[in-house]
Amino acid sequence: MRHGYPLVELHRHLDGNVRIETVLDLCRRHGLELPAWTVEELRPHVQILEREPSLVHFIAKFELLRRAMVDYDAVRRIVRENLEDAAREGIDYIELRFSPWFMGETHGLDTFGVVDAACDALEEGRGTIPVKAKLIGIIARNYGPEIGRVELAAAIRGRERGVVALDLAGDEAGYPGELFVRHFQEAREAGLHTIAHAGEAAGAESVRQAVLGLRAERIGHGIRAIEDPAVLDLLAEREITLEVCPTSNLHTSTVRDYRSHPLPALLRRGIRCTLNTDDPSISGLDLAHEYRVASEELGLSEAEIRRMQETAVEAAFLTPEERAGLLAVS
Ligand SMILES: [Zn+2]
Repeated sequence: MRHGYPLVELHRHLDGNVRIETVLDLCRRHGLELPAWTVEELRPHVQILEREPSLVHFIAKFELLRRAMVDYDAVRRIVRENLEDAAREGIDYIELRFSPWFMGETHGLDTFGVVDAACDALEEGRGTIPVKAKLIGIIARNYGPEIGRVELAAAIRGRERGVVALDLAGDEAGYPGELFVRHFQEAREAGLHTIAHAGEAAGAESVRQAVLGLRAERIGHGIRAIEDPAVLDLLAEREITLEVCPTSNLHTSTVRDYRSHPLPALLRRGIRCTLNTDDPSISGLDLAHEYRVASEELGLSEAEIRRMQETAVEAAFLTPEERAGLLAVS
């Protein structure tokens, strides 16, 4: 990690980073069921301690975290704690993403209400928690295009209050990007940036679709682009940034082990890559952990790691003034 240079995280799920203590506290206070009542006993239910067979199993870990999202106060608390965690990790700027439908589903919260609560907490944190932050609204693919329209509308509503982009996440193999082309067009027209998770559970063709069909500016993961040289050329030509999360890829069995992770090959092919955590609570890690993995497990050089840090600043959804401000304080 380059010191004296801004540390940026572009790919972290708000609802994949809920403190176990917070789950216990909220469930206890609201009289909800949990399979265990101490941090250590609950940990195996939340965190991946051994390899999971698929992305769908990985997503199942979210179910327990969602149980804590009992009301809008809980949403605000989870956002605030995410900001505190980022500040404690030494992160200067973070983009936190969430599907408001998914977050609200367990306890029947309104999708727009979830976005409003997240924006409230972002505003409250400004000036009191030492980290700059923006939000990204997710369309969760597995709810289908119609609910996707509600999530799109909620993201657009948050645009003036810190929501800067629309992302597509969830079951990539079962719900291809083609279903959401119109949503992405409308997001762009409304002034949102665009990202899509692709090339994780599905192959290089899904990355191509995200770039050409959805016109995503950044790709979440995107690592399976390595399977098709033509898709790599496309990413390089269009200067698309990949948000790479190495340990998450192991935990979803997208890659077998660190040694077979394509990040070094992608960087050496000239693809713009950044280093991210994805879901800290579920993977049991922080951003510093992924920088250690990049160096010690993936064998990246100091110069390559520094380049990723610079790419993250360049690819962040900041205005030129905000970017200059970020660079000035570090
Ligand atoms: Zn993700």
